[in-house]
Amino acid sequence: PAAAVLEEGLERIAAAFDRAAGDPEGAVVDVRATGFGWRALVVGPGEELRAAIAERLGAIGFTARVADEPGDLDRAPLSERPDLVVVVARAQDAEADPYTLLAAAAGGAGAPRRTVALVDPASAIDRFRAAVAGAAAVFPGDRWEHELPGFAKALARIGAPPANVLLVEDDPALASLITGALEQAELRVRHCRSAESAYELLGAESPDLLLLDVRLPGLDGFALARLIRSDPRFSLIPIVFLTSRTSVEDQIEALRSGGDDFLTKPVDLHLLVYAVALRAERGRRIRELVHRDGLTGLLNHSALMTELEHAIAYSRRHGESLALLMIDLDHFKRINDRYGHLVGDHVLRHVARVFQRVVRSSDLLARYGGEEFAVLLRHCPVEGAALTAGKLREALEAHPAALPGGESVPVRASIGVALYPRDGQTVAALAGAADRALYRAKRAGRNRVEYAEPEAPLER
Ligand code: GH3
Ligand code: MG
Ligand code: MG
Ligand code: MG
Repeated sequence: PAAAVLEEGLERIAAAFDRAAGDPEGAVVDVRATGFGWRALVVGPGEELRAAIAERLGAIGFTARVADEPGDLDRAPLSERPDLVVVVARAQDAEADPYTLLAAAAGGAGAPRRTVALVDPASAIDRFRAAVAGAAAVFPGDRWEHELPGFAKALARIGAPPANVLLVEDDPALASLITGALEQAELRVRHCRSAESAYELLGAESPDLLLLDVRLPGLDGFALARLIRSDPRFSLIPIVFLTSRTSVEDQIEALRSGGDDFLTKPVDLHLLVYAVALRAERGRRIRELVHRDGLTGLLNHSALMTELEHAIAYSRRHGESLALLMIDLDHFKRINDRYGHLVGDHVLRHVARVFQRVVRSSDLLARYGGEEFAVLLRHCPVEGAALTAGKLREALEAHPAALPGGESVPVRASIGVALYPRDGQTVAALAGAADRALYRAKRAGRNRVEYAEPEAPLER
């Protein structure tokens, strides 16, 4: 009987996790890439509203652009097609009849998968006609700000976005042939012509695979591969070479430089699509396993440290500041002691989701350790850090964890904030400064934010 009770309890918790995963207000899409990831297009009259909608979608990780009209979306290259089109309606406007715009955005039968939503500022829209024209949802003007983000997030969770390929090829004709073939297979392609520009792009976007021509102007493909492999952030990314050099020596050099596969020109497009699509998919899964925390899906400790190292180097080069927030949940042991570790884990996932809703897509949120989280805010002055820290605490306050049995458990956190370059100029110094500030927050009674204190000058 005890075993049966335990099993039933476990099942209830598992079911609660499943429900939580389906929560439309839940996890934010974590898309750091600028050119890849989920895309939105906002069309229709009303420049100000359009811009506000695009900004809101941008804040939850979409790459959003605005336009007067949807244009011929089915003809646009796959890597430019939006996953979500938001139409702004103004019923009186004969020039831009919302139903026509909706129908144009939705496309005809057999159009690629794409969701169309309508924002209706004047609440003048006939919802039935909107649905017939292809709208999956209609948001009145006073509610879109609250409801559209949840809708967009739920949409983005339905499936992973297509795999992203960075193609480095200096021959434009071949590049467009390859791009076409890969896009047909629903892969997203970003193309550049030199190793130098590829290396620059790599830091900003996170492709799932690199398709590298060997002979390039300037740095060649082998040298680029060696460069990429020497960077721990990119040690896992699959590299497929594309070359007319076919000798065994060349193949060996391709392997030695860090390549995973070697396709010879003239390339068989069918083979290329398979070689790329399957590896890109697997590359993405492996990357997630290595860089993400299994419980919460947030970045793990080592991924955060690597990102912090690069963010500091970037800030140094560009004379920018950044902030590191170290967060420790207050009296978390009590939750474990009272409800057990499984419920403790459930609460940790809940906290991760609450924090995800607060941070912007350019911020990095990590599970630093057990019940400790960290946020890296790039290009961020002290006011921005204070604002985010305050929002994190308020959000936690506003959303107690709901236990499977219906009980609601308040969770609080203490936060330590450190700024680069003011409080530390290396990963270790900055993390140490944030940690000491956090310790002071705990000592001062918990549930508060403390800032790093300037280091005492070195004694000579
Ligand atoms: P405070 O931080 O306010 O000083 O008190 P605390 O109770 O949170 O103390 P501390 O940070 O030292 O302890 C963290 C506790 O978090 C201890 C550990 O049992 C629990 N914990 C750490 N990782 C996990 C986890 O993955 N799952 C669960 N359920 N509990 C965890
Ligand atoms: Mg070439
Ligand atoms: Mg702790
Ligand atoms: Mg704690």
